[in-house]
Amino acid sequence: MKRNKIGFRIGIVILVAFFVVILSSGLAIDRMFSNFYNSEMRTEVNELTTHFTAMSESPEMLSDKALLKFADFSNVSIVFVSEQGEVLANSGLYQLTDQTFIKPKDLKELFNGKTIELEHTDANKERYFVAAKPVMDTTGVNIKAAVYVLSSTHHMDESISAVRNVLVLSGGGAFLLALGITWIIAQILSRPLLQIQAATRKIAAGDLETRLTLHRDDEIGVLADSINHLAVELQRYRDTRQEFFANISHELRTPITYLEGYAQVLKNHLYETEEEKDRYLVIIQEESIRLQHLVNDLFELAKMEEGKISLTLEWVDLAEIADNAVQKIKLKARDKNLSLKTMINKDIPLIYGDGLRMEQILINLLENAVRYTEKGSINIELDQNRSYLYLVVEDTGIGIPETDIPYIFDRFYRVEKSRSRQHGGTGLGLPIAKKLVELQGGKLHVSSKLGEGSRFELRFVPGNQEG
Ligand code: ADP
Repeated sequence: MKRNKIGFRIGIVILVAFFVVILSSGLAIDRMFSNFYNSEMRTEVNELTTHFTAMSESPEMLSDKALLKFADFSNVSIVFVSEQGEVLANSGLYQLTDQTFIKPKDLKELFNGKTIELEHTDANKERYFVAAKPVMDTTGVNIKAAVYVLSSTHHMDESISAVRNVLVLSGGGAFLLALGITWIIAQILSRPLLQIQAATRKIAAGDLETRLTLHRDDEIGVLADSINHLAVELQRYRDTRQEFFANISHELRTPITYLEGYAQVLKNHLYETEEEKDRYLVIIQEESIRLQHLVNDLFELAKMEEGKISLTLEWVDLAEIADNAVQKIKLKARDKNLSLKTMINKDIPLIYGDGLRMEQILINLLENAVRYTEKGSINIELDQNRSYLYLVVEDTGIGIPETDIPYIFDRFYRVEKSRSRQHGGTGLGLPIAKKLVELQGGKLHVSSKLGEGSRFELRFVPGNQEG
């Protein structure tokens, strides 16, 4: 039962509710029947008393004997009493040893012409409904006696107890039924929860292949789906983390191998000319710079993923930022004989962002454009349409194969490893840029055609980033 606490609690609630409903309706039905029988009997006894009084008063009156016989047939007892309380005549089953139902106070009322009604319990604990009326003499002026009619409640009590038995039996049946229903409901509710509990334990223990197959379209089904989703995400996270570490070791190993190799060559004087020595030193320097970039990028990415990067948000002018970035990339473009074409609309609204980070994103896109373009131009366009501001960096370079486009924002993803490496790329530039854009409420889109060029577009909805 301890493992099935929810079922147990629900069961208790349902049972208590059932119990209260059954008990209260049982009591109400019992009360209804008792009241009905009581009032029926009271009316009947009253009517009989009226009849007996009328019969005794009638001039063509039946003989006293016949009257008493008639009372026997009617299943009641009648007692004629004088004003002094003396029993003048009686009939029926009632034992007159107990005459306590005849009270002087009532007699006084009766001989004053009033009617009396009472309940009487005899020495044997038998209950009677009693009605009494005055009986007039033949003159119709004087009261000659009082007639008491006693009707035993025995039959009525028997009927009520039969009804009670039926009520108790059906109440018990309903309670058992409720117990059964409760058990079923508890099973329906708690079994999937126990399954969920077992599955989450397995997932927590590292068994990320675990899936729940509940196939329900209620809240429990939704919970199971969420847990499955969580397991898929965790699995993906674990796989990408493993891949990430494998990539890092690989990325670090390459420059370190170069550094070690060329340092060895220099140490053992395995060069012939001073120029050769200088070339090796340049390689060592470049590889050290690459290592530094790699470590910086990794550190930056780690900070971003942990949400620890702090942006200095303020209202910034994208046109100014674009101008600065273009100035900084100018030399590199000139070195490769690439023309830089800018179409910057200066009348666009300010956006809420981090100016330095925005420039970093743009320089990254521009450096990539220069890096992967051998001839032609690089276009920079800044403008707005009705929905957003857009900043486009477009080149006429080698382009990106369609199958690689979905992955270029993945960490360490490079279309051509050797070429990127040759240009000093780490494969972390685009994931960092995308993350930074998103942190500032923007979006980074890419489209490209192999051999024709690539187009990277930043979109910001003005006023959408604040807060
Ligand atoms: P990298 O440091 O290698 O440039 P990025 O994350 O900046 O890393 O880019 C990932 C990959 O996307 C690059 O290796 C390159 O293959 C491709 N790429 C990025 N920008 C361009 C571009 N303008 N033209 C062609 N390919 C690009």
